[in-house]
Amino acid sequence: MATEPRLPTNTIVKPDKDTFLNEENPFEAMMLRFDRAAELLDLEPGLYKVLRHPEKQIIVSIPVMKDNGEVEVYTGYRVLYNTSRGPAKGGIRFDMSVTLEEVKALAAWMTWKCAVVNIPFGGSKGGVVCDPLEMSASELERLTRRYTAAIIQILGPDSDVPAPDVNTNERVMAWIMDTYSMHVGHTTTAVVTGKPVEMGGSLGRREATGRGCMFVTKEALEHLGMPVEGTTVAVQGFGNVGSVAAQLLHREGCKIVAIGDRSASIYDKNGIDVDDAVAYVAKHRSLDGYAKGEIISGNDLLTLDVDVLVPAALENVITTKNAGSIRARIICEGANGPTTAAADSILDENGVFVIPDILANAGGVTVSYFEWVQDRGGYFWTEQLVNERLRDIMVNSFQDVLTLSKQHKVNMRTAAYMLAISRVATVHRLRGIYA
Ligand code: NAD
Repeated sequence: MATEPRLPTNTIVKPDKDTFLNEENPFEAMMLRFDRAAELLDLEPGLYKVLRHPEKQIIVSIPVMKDNGEVEVYTGYRVLYNTSRGPAKGGIRFDMSVTLEEVKALAAWMTWKCAVVNIPFGGSKGGVVCDPLEMSASELERLTRRYTAAIIQILGPDSDVPAPDVNTNERVMAWIMDTYSMHVGHTTTAVVTGKPVEMGGSLGRREATGRGCMFVTKEALEHLGMPVEGTTVAVQGFGNVGSVAAQLLHREGCKIVAIGDRSASIYDKNGIDVDDAVAYVAKHRSLDGYAKGEIISGNDLLTLDVDVLVPAALENVITTKNAGSIRARIICEGANGPTTAAADSILDENGVFVIPDILANAGGVTVSYFEWVQDRGGYFWTEQLVNERLRDIMVNSFQDVLTLSKQHKVNMRTAAYMLAISRVATVHRLRGIYA
């Protein structure tokens, strides 16, 4: 195979915190990290260009009949970033903040995430600009089905497999699976993951992302010589990822001193009864009104004097504005993109050990992969087996990234990108570029 000339290093933008056009543009943040890793890997110019572009970007208009008989039209996106290693894999988000730039970044992160944990998927993501909390269940169902129909050509177990993300859940996945199956004429369970267990979902999938966060946090604590017992933790975001991470870290012996969601943040230095808070949210849909602790602001939660901070809500919550005030020794990025690229160097300077999103929250896609394997094999695993295999993958991936970070004297994020990009690049080299 002919080797391409190396890229002159001056054509790669370095992630210098002073060179940001828009710190909070998630795609730009992803690209700056990508560039840094690509430069260290000395990636050849052709591949560098290929990996900087999403393969496919789809924008759809989604008409939905509201309960009052009026028609509303929503905008939806689906981006396939890279499928060289296998079918595209990525969640669907329903939120007013969804933008194409965000979906592109999330699709790229899915590509690197699947590669970091070495599962045979590419990366994609989808989103619909809507406020699901303002919609009835039947409106949400019509929105989901119409969005599925609009992107159906690219969906499929061998091409693109959605999963839950912010404001989507098992029920939404069931509607997508049903709509797809109706269109193709036969039941196709493997077209989505994160489905209800009764219809081909995997045991352990719902808890997988939070469980993965727990495994890598324990690895980080061990690496830094910190005991698990009594470790203080603050968790931002109390949905699927944050609440499970809090529950499982609590069960391992950590003290969860703060939790927060979009409605409220609560602090108790003696430790919060996480199971009680989960039960409250199950009943009331949010932490609003949960009075068992001191009410603090969302930003105060992020800057608490704790051992571990788990941002598990949305992106861009740790920026140049507050990174210098972060007092946690470890950040476990449960959310995708919670830290801006400009904030990375501030955290580095202050010695904060960051477990990057593409590693920390990869437990979800790992068990999604297990679900897809089980659907295609028609044979289902016990929860214990799922959790054991998840643990192996998370622990081994953490150690692979740590080893690379020591070898190259880079932080965990750059090491994770290097590992991911080198795996994707290897497959591209083997397949050749169809240009
Ligand atoms: P979710 O909808 O279940 O929960 C989101 C939580 O964040 C809610 O508690 C919400 O109130 C809170 N939140 C929203 N805005 C906030 C704000 N401004 N301040 C504080 N809290 C706020 O979503 P989720 O599935 O838990 O996803 C959370 C993050 O984890 C997202 O970044 C998502 O992309 C990422 N993620 C999710 C999975 C998964 O399997 N669900 C996997 C990998 C990564």
